[in-house]
Amino acid sequence: MRKKLIAANWKMNKTIDEGLVFVNGLKEKYPKTHPVDVVICAPATMLFPIAEKAIGSRIDIGAQNLFWEPEGAYTGEISARMIVDAGCSYVIIGHSERRQYFHETNEHTRKKIATALNERLNVIFCIGETLEDRNAGRTMDLLRSQLTEGLAGVSDQQLRSIIIAYEPVWAIGTGVTATPEQAQEAHAFIRGLVRSGYSEKSAETIRILYGGSVKPDNIDELMACPDIDGALVGGASLKLDSFLKLINYGGMGL
Ligand code: PEP
Repeated sequence: MRKKLIAANWKMNKTIDEGLVFVNGLKEKYPKTHPVDVVICAPATMLFPIAEKAIGSRIDIGAQNLFWEPEGAYTGEISARMIVDAGCSYVIIGHSERRQYFHETNEHTRKKIATALNERLNVIFCIGETLEDRNAGRTMDLLRSQLTEGLAGVSDQQLRSIIIAYEPVWAIGTGVTATPEQAQEAHAFIRGLVRSGYSEKSAETIRILYGGSVKPDNIDELMACPDIDGALVGGASLKLDSFLKLINYGGMGL
């Protein structure tokens, strides 16, 4: 049975103080026995203090990006080792905003994933189609190429540290959510790709999150889909009240 995971992607939001207040509040309301795993992916400036604050809880902290080189003259970049050093156990790779605004390609995601795995980070690997791709009937081809090119060279054993996030670009930050049927279809397809590229066991154990305008009022129906193992949440993860409703979806943990 795959355990559900709700991951917050705070993007470029919150100061250190605001992050600390949130994590402190979450720590109080998220008991160690809670059935859902929680990851907070925060801006780089606050990773160290919030990771320290999360000590003694089951909250995991993640970065939102990394650079594939181990060190050197790469102004403005941070390495996988620095992310681990700051107390993180997760990193998001391949988010559509990175692909769209920073021209990240599948080859870039491949290199970033390889580096993250070398440093034993868990990877939340984002894939998803644009509206143009969907309307042109290219969704499944695009998911296949993003997944197979990004995971090229990743072994069956390493795959255990990968969490896939299916995030249709047209649903991110738009208020438009994929219907449970659309999301389930894409998730089942992705799981099938893992089955054919790896093994039945890997396909059954890998967690596939849905992302794209997930909110307290639509999470229940999404989480009821058999191949949806959690959510990657942007906007609705910024307020503690709303995030608590997400992790407690369907009465979980209450
Ligand atoms: C995201 O950034 O990964 C995301 C899903 O954002 P939102 O929930 O705001 O659509």
